[in-house]
Amino acid sequence: MKKYCLGIESTAHTWGVGIVDFEGENHSIINDTFMPEKGGLHPAMVREHHLHCFADVINKSLSDARLSLRDINLIAFSQSPGLGPVLKIGALVARMLSQILNIPLVGVNHCIAHVEIGRLMCNIKDPLTLYVSGGNTIVSAYESNRYQIFGETLDLAVGNMIDSFARDAGLSHPGGPKIESLASKSEKYIQLPYAVKGMDLSFSGLYTAAKRLLESPKFNDKYTLNDVANSLQETAFAMLTEVTERALAHTEKKEVLLTGGVAANKRLQQMIQYICDEHDTRFEAVPLKFAGDNGVMIAWTGVLRYLSEGGHEISETIINPRERMDQITVPWRIDK
Ligand code: AMP
Ligand code: MG
Repeated sequence: MKKYCLGIESTAHTWGVGIVDFEGENHSIINDTFMPEKGGLHPAMVREHHLHCFADVINKSLSDARLSLRDINLIAFSQSPGLGPVLKIGALVARMLSQILNIPLVGVNHCIAHVEIGRLMCNIKDPLTLYVSGGNTIVSAYESNRYQIFGETLDLAVGNMIDSFARDAGLSHPGGPKIESLASKSEKYIQLPYAVKGMDLSFSGLYTAAKRLLESPKFNDKYTLNDVANSLQETAFAMLTEVTERALAHTEKKEVLLTGGVAANKRLQQMIQYICDEHDTRFEAVPLKFAGDNGVMIAWTGVLRYLSEGGHEISETIINPRERMDQITVPWRIDK
């Protein structure tokens, strides 16, 4: 008989529930995402959003999979990293379900889950991963029993940076797809700060300079919003591509995976594809449905950890808002 894991994603804006079986087949993916009317994500408002919708999303996910709670064999939840007050809702609901149903519980690192869903959905074994989202910008690869971090942002995540710029330009959240569409209408490049420090990246100078362009008297005279959007994307994505290429040369991985919400961007995909061709490396972007935060990636990573280590005790399921993906081992990757 098939065994099922129900996964709960609750690190930031998305309350996501996914159901997978222990062989990795996906049976349901349901998200309810908090959209701020203006400004960024206020943890207290996101928490209220998740508290409001959690049962509804779980019920929808079960009915989508044509299952009932009694058919579920394992509960997984995003334990780290993320917004503390929001992570707590996922942990609370997951603990409650596990105890009421008397089934095992397993906590999952959200960044590792983005890698694992990519490996599953793209059928790749051992990629160098560029994970770019609203909250994270990380280049990582498996080495010595961990997902080691080869490069990361020192300040803003690239998705957050683009969303903030879009907001300054009067565009609604999420700004990423809108900036992509505006950028595709321009070929003009305005020089902007390019900040790669060693293998790490900094986006705050780029953000401030792009914002200043919007406020300049030359705006709509010498250049348009399309031109600034194009210049912002070209600069940010060239930085990401440079770090990814250097990590690729160092690790000599034969596959590159692009994941996280920003992976949807066609221009970024094109740039990463280019370096992969140069290095004779296979390139895969996670299918759009699984690129942003979702419960399926949590469920599947929960299955992997459970099958190699068993479930977590309640005392081991305390949330960890700052845990890095290289702080924990990934026993299911060890070649037996
Ligand atoms: P996540 O945090 O993984 O759920 O992804 C959300 C982030 O992805 C937001 O910052 C979005 O603006 C960004 N995003 C989604 N689609 C695109 C796109 N086509 N280009 C750039 N960023 C995008
Ligand atoms: Mg994410």
